[in-house]
Amino acid sequence: MKAKKYILSFGLVAASILSTYFITHTTAQQGVPAVQASVDNEYQAGATLWMQKAGEYRSLAYQAFNLARWRLDADFDKKNIKKLPKVDRKRPRAVIVDIDETVLDNSPAQAFNIKNRLPFGVKDWYAWGEMRKAKAIPGAVDFLNYANSKGVRVFFVSNRDNVQKQATIDNLKNVGFANVTEENVVLRTTESSKEARRQAIAAKYRIVLLMGDNLDDLSNVFERKSIADRFGEVDKVKDDWGKRWIVLPNAMYGTWESAIYEYKALTDAQKSEKRVNALELP
Ligand SMILES: [Mg+2]
Repeated sequence: MKAKKYILSFGLVAASILSTYFITHTTAQQGVPAVQASVDNEYQAGATLWMQKAGEYRSLAYQAFNLARWRLDADFDKKNIKKLPKVDRKRPRAVIVDIDETVLDNSPAQAFNIKNRLPFGVKDWYAWGEMRKAKAIPGAVDFLNYANSKGVRVFFVSNRDNVQKQATIDNLKNVGFANVTEENVVLRTTESSKEARRQAIAAKYRIVLLMGDNLDDLSNVFERKSIADRFGEVDKVKDDWGKRWIVLPNAMYGTWESAIYEYKALTDAQKSEKRVNALELP
């Protein structure tokens, strides 16, 4: 009799675990809040609202792409061409941009997670990508289409996974980017560092500009560095900002945050503690 009772209660527990799993993994994909352990991501709400609601964010995005256009025009100036080493004068020009939070806005995916207290999950991220619903960052379409019209090759170098390639190409085309092809959408295949991908482009083109929301989009000198070392690297090349390298604002997420966590996999509570400890007080 006792054994029967145990089997019955074990069965009930197993059924409850399975049904929770089933609900979690089916409803999340349909855009319905999933039954899942809630995470501490309320702190991201300010940054997400700022991206979605602040005219200041919008104007900074235009500012970045206006500056990019001026830099490109300056590159075409005859005086500039004379200053280039001879081997570079006839090399075709390229502009490299990152995708997420540089030319496409994923804040709705971030907002969904905040509202439902969900952690970042690859499955949900892929599902968002499949929707092809990301809007263009203000100014991005005009600038990149201008670059295209001047014969400059645009490369979208992103750490989206290669399995997301078709959806990414579709999304970029849908929002109006011209000349988006299999060749110039360069996603992650093996490593997250973009250095090898940048080098492969540099072997054929003269890279006039690099644009990203993350320092790692620009050079490998910033990769996996501490906060102090990132600052040091930024200061070392202070005259390059706004010239060769243009940064888009992204306070929602990024390597800047990973640096606060010292690139460690931490619990929510540990992350929260690191964030509070990192605050500079009077
Ligand atoms: Mg990005």
